[in-house]
Amino acid sequence: MKQEEEVVKSNQKGDIVVDDDGYGSLWRDCGWFVLFFLYLEISHCLFLRQVKISNLKGKIVGIYFSANWYPPCQNFTRVLANAYDQLKNSNPGFEIVFVSSDEDLNSFNNYRALMPWLAIPFSDLDTKRALNLRYNIEGIPCLIVLQPDDSVEDLIIEDGVDLIYRYGVQAYPFTRQRLEELVEKEKHEHDNQTLEGLLTNHGRDFLMGNSMPKQVPVTSLTSKTIGLYFSAEWCSPAAKFTPKLVSVYQKINQQLTINGHHNFEIVFVSSDHDQTSFESYFQTMPWLALPYGDPNIKNLTKYFDVRGIPSLVILGPDRKTVTKQGRSLVNLYQERAYPFTEDRKRLLEREMDEEARKLAKFEYHSGHCHELMLVSEGNGGGPFICCDCDEQGSGWAYQCVECGYEVHTKCVNRVERGSINGS
Ligand SMILES: [Zn+2]
Ligand SMILES: [Zn+2]
Repeated sequence: MKQEEEVVKSNQKGDIVVDDDGYGSLWRDCGWFVLFFLYLEISHCLFLRQVKISNLKGKIVGIYFSANWYPPCQNFTRVLANAYDQLKNSNPGFEIVFVSSDEDLNSFNNYRALMPWLAIPFSDLDTKRALNLRYNIEGIPCLIVLQPDDSVEDLIIEDGVDLIYRYGVQAYPFTRQRLEELVEKEKHEHDNQTLEGLLTNHGRDFLMGNSMPKQVPVTSLTSKTIGLYFSAEWCSPAAKFTPKLVSVYQKINQQLTINGHHNFEIVFVSSDHDQTSFESYFQTMPWLALPYGDPNIKNLTKYFDVRGIPSLVILGPDRKTVTKQGRSLVNLYQERAYPFTEDRKRLLEREMDEEARKLAKFEYHSGHCHELMLVSEGNGGGPFICCDCDEQGSGWAYQCVECGYEVHTKCVNRVERGSINGS
């Protein structure tokens, strides 16, 4: 009984979803049928503040799978709450229902306090399980969006999290037509992007340099290949990648000066938490930077859909985006990755394939107790994180399938069989 009382308290602010509509009509609409379980589960809790499921009919409803214990969920909840507040004012036909994977009632209640929308009661395990099954939820956070007429399976949006991150409230009303419009608009923007548009704003037309002059006009970057380096001092993968990128940057520019070509520039796009960490981190970089806290930083992160750092986006001399995979290209090919184009990548892949043919099918590596097998993309391999250097990889690799252990071919430190403990 204690639990129920707490649920009541927690819902004085929010609401509980319940239906009085009978289940005949609910069964007809496949997207809604699971909510029918709520009827059974909640109908006895008469004293709770309830919202009838029939009130959700005719609305666009987001079913939000999330949990307090998982930081990516907490981050997304903040973003979603912001979008929800904006949407609710102008669109009464929109609602969200939270389906919790929290571990206990307390966490649920704390988490609920951040959510201005409806929730399935914490104690209602059956409904939560049914919703997870119905929408095949494999990871959280997950936002499923149902249209008022969702009897057509095709109208169900499964990547609501992605859409909210990418487009914010613009994604509303989450119809296929709206999403096509957004993709079209985005393509138009990217086809017509300019360096000034990306890197300057009303109050600033320069970038910061470490050496004199400290201010470098954005116009001086014309006809160069540019890398936008999204990074921060607090990020530990960046701490490993930054020195590697410095060395690659210097080697690329040495080669380019010899050949008399236009050179390569990098612009640090910082997500450091304060000016001091920004400055100390920027000291380690021989390139340019956007000022700390500049409004363009947020815009660029959204524009290039940067989800994690470090990340390296490459712009060509024609200002078009060449690749967003700069980081993995640097990891795979170092300075040879330049100028990061598809053509260059294909050439390097061919070279790598040829070199890989000379490699042994099996190797013993000092960092692992089992024999490793050579794999390639589409042949047991695929994108991976190297267990030796902790960096991303793709294409050829040495792998122990049983342990999920995988390393770059260049990271293998060959040893004789039997010289490793445990083999
Ligand atoms: Zn490696
Ligand atoms: Zn193993």
